[in-house]
Formats: sequence, C-alpha cells, structure tokens
Amino acid sequence: MSLTHSNLTVAKFGGTSVANHEAMSRCARLILDNPEIRLVVVSASAGVTNFLVKLGNEQLSANEREYVLQQIRNIENSILNDLGRPAEVEQIIDELLVQLAETANQPDVLTSSKLKDEILSFGERMSSVLFAEVMNQVAADNISVAFDGRQVLKTDSSFGKAEPQVEATKQQAESLLSPLLEDKIVITQGFIGQDNFGNTTTLGRGGSDYSAALFAEAVDAFALQIWTDVPGIYTTDPRITDKARPIPEISFDEAAEMAIFGAKILHPATLIPAIRSGVKVFVGSSIEPEAGGTWISKTVDHRPAYRAVALRNDQTLITVKSPEMLHATGFLARVFAILAKHKLSVDLITTSEISVALTIDNPPNTPMAELTDACIQDLSGFCDVKVESDLALVAVIGNHVEYDDEEGGSGRIFSTVTDDQLRLICHGASKHNVCFLVKQGHAKDIVRDLHDDLFSA
Ligand code: ADP
Ligand code: ASP
Ligand code: MG
Repeated sequence: MSLTHSNLTVAKFGGTSVANHEAMSRCARLILDNPEIRLVVVSASAGVTNFLVKLGNEQLSANEREYVLQQIRNIENSILNDLGRPAEVEQIIDELLVQLAETANQPDVLTSSKLKDEILSFGERMSSVLFAEVMNQVAADNISVAFDGRQVLKTDSSFGKAEPQVEATKQQAESLLSPLLEDKIVITQGFIGQDNFGNTTTLGRGGSDYSAALFAEAVDAFALQIWTDVPGIYTTDPRITDKARPIPEISFDEAAEMAIFGAKILHPATLIPAIRSGVKVFVGSSIEPEAGGTWISKTVDHRPAYRAVALRNDQTLITVKSPEMLHATGFLARVFAILAKHKLSVDLITTSEISVALTIDNPPNTPMAELTDACIQDLSGFCDVKVESDLALVAVIGNHVEYDDEEGGSGRIFSTVTDDQLRLICHGASKHNVCFLVKQGHAKDIVRDLHDDLFSA
C-alpha cells in the first residue's frame, strides 16, 4: 500500500465503537473499506474509564477494589475470548491487567495525581492492542500494528489535564510514526500522553478526540474522521429531543463553541490542532457509516442565525461580594489569583459594582480539581462567598446571536426561556453564543423547548 500525503486520514473510534468484539469488527471493516485511513486512534472500551476513575478517586475497601478490577477484566476478557485468545495478545492483556491491579493497590493512589493518570491509561492501552488484533483477523492479514502513542504525544506534567507539546509531538511523529505508516495501519491510544520525565499523562475526560486531532496535525494528515455513536453533530444532543437534526456542514468556530459549551460529541480542545493545521474534520457513526455525518471546515456556505443548543451539566456558581469593591481596584485580580492558585478555571463571569458571580465546571467522574474548602476559605479572607450547585449551562450557538433582532438574536431566545428559570445570563461577549445558567433539574426541558422553538421550520 502506498501512502501519499495528499490523502492520509486519521480515524478516531470512541468508547461505544470499541465496546466489544462485534463493535470493533464493524470499525475494522469500515477502515478496510477506506484505504486512506492509516492511523487509528482508539478510546478505552465503553465503561472502562469510569471504572478506572473509581479506582483512582474513591476510597474503596479491598473487596470493592477487587470488584471494580473484575468488571474491567470481564470487558477485556470477553473481547479476548471472541478473538480466540491468541497467545501473544493474551499475554499482553494479562500483563496489563496485573500491572493495573498493582498500581491500583498502591497506598498513595488517592493522593497522587501521577498514579491516577497511570491507572487511567490502561483502558486505551488494552483496547488498542485488542483492536489491532481484530483488524488483522478481519483482514486475514498482518496489516495492522498497535503502537504506544505515549512515545509521540508529548505533554507537560499537568496530570489529569495535560497540555500537549506540539513541536515535540511533531518531531516524534516524524521519526517514529511516519515510517510505520508506510506499510502498516497503525492503531494507537487516544487520551494518554507522556511528560518529559517519562510519566504517563492524560488529556482530560473525552480526550481521545483531542489526541486524534493532535496526531492528525503531527503526521500532517489530510483529514480527521471522528467515528462515534451518532451520525454527526446535531442541532442539539439527540438524546434530549427527537427533533434534533444532523448538521451536514459547520464552520470550525461554530463547532468549537459547541464543544466548549458542552456538546459532548467533541472534546472542547479538539478543534484547536485542526484549525492550526487546516485538517478537515468529519464526524460520523461507526454503527451506520452510510448515514453520512458532519464536515467541519474553515469556510461554509451557510451560516444560520441559530446553529445549535448545547447543554453542560454540573456547574457551580460562586458569588463573591465585598462592600470594599465599590470603586476599589484589584478586587477581581485578587479573586482570580486565588482561583488560579487552586487550579480552577472560570467559564462565565458577570460583575456588578460590589459583587462578582462566576461559574466553574464541576463534573463527576473526573480526577480534575473541584472547588475545595481551602479555596472557599481563601476567598472568605476578604469577601463574602456564596456557592450554589446543581446548575446547568445552556448555550445557544449561532451567528450574530448578540443582536436582538426580528430574524434571530437573543430576543427570540428569551421569549422562550422565562425570567424565573434563569439564574445568570452571559450575553454580548461573543457573536457566536448566548448562554445562561438554569437549575439542572429543569435543564433538559428548557433545552428541548428552546430547541424546538428555534429550529421548528
Ligand atoms: P465517543 O465515546 O464516541 O467519544 P461520546 O459519548 O463522547 O462518544 O459523544 C457522543 C455523544 O454526544 C452522543 O451519543 C450524544 O448523546 C452526545 N451529544 C451531545 N451533544 C451532541 C450534538 N450536538 N450532536 C450529536 N451528539 C451530541
Ligand atoms: N477513555 C477516555 C474517557 O472515557 C477518553 C475518551 O474516551 O475520549 O474519558
Ligand atoms: Mg467522547
């Protein structure tokens, strides 16, 4: 097979696409039908990363830990059994499962973010080995090889949310990956990387999309395909309303806003490398590839007033208030310095003369920093602090949504969502979104109503 840089395609398969042997075989056939796909990035099999998070984050008894480990073994072994337990692959998976148990049993797991990332890496390390074997069995040929992507994807040491080192990653890809791609279909892991000291790092939950885009940039790919469980990006999460419609074509900036504001279909950082390298991105369903999907590119013919409604759960609202803030300088800087010290990044912010309200993401099943008592204590040192949780962020993504006019804009949005449902509004800072906080319990209904109103033809 000859590889030309004009058509090299990187394909990423998410957790449900590699959940079991049947799903993996479907993906293998998809790859074999598309000879331009040479580099494949896989997630952990569905469910595995959630179990791994438990091992690193929860105080478990020895029995409970063993139970979680057994759930993971069951998922991996079922794929291994369906493959006929080829000796070489069986040995690798057995070794990885033993190493995982050893790591999870270390006494400082709960306090070491380095160990947590090591634990999290096992899902992708196992699925990539199993997937390469599925490829070879489906092709009845030794066309595929599993490759340890940590040799290429270099990051800093921010465990749990590592930042990629783009130049180092490119150099490693050039020397280690590109030669392999000449005659093999290479299967590598999403989500994981390696810092300069040889430690395993992870890019944050859902990070395989981001890895795939980084790999695509590093090998100078022509296209990146993200294969998941829905045929493309929809006007809202199709699980919320059956009126959600697929979007055939969307611009980088609109899709990036959707990802940032919670459309789980793409990790929020996925489009950064894609925009940098100009690689076109396709999103489709590995279950029904013939159903088409969404192309994301720099320019699109059509830029509608409303593009999509996104929902992000698990928001925490912090309101800090100081009478001294009136005409005082440096108050915001002090607040932000404390949040930065506690590694919390702020999403929305609104201010009045004596108070500031800001939101932070507080998702479950992640090893990321949460709002801690220590942070609240630091803030309380110079202002009143109020914390509210069980909130969700709803964002309407579109073009020129900052204006309130007849055809589009925010007026129509706020005629559907009533004042008593709103906790906070951010409007005007971006021409691509209007967003607001609502009670989490009401969020899906609000998104459904808003979507059905904005997108009813
Ligand atoms: P994968 O494991 O393949 O990465 P994810 O579960 O992370 O898949 O993302 C796919 C899911 O994203 C879909 O099943 C869907 O429920 C959800 N989703 C949220 N917003 C959207 C949207 N606007 N369009 C399509 N899917 C969306
Ligand atoms: N396996 C990781 C997760 O579940 C990364 C990914 O699937 O994108 O978050
Ligand atoms: Mg995902």
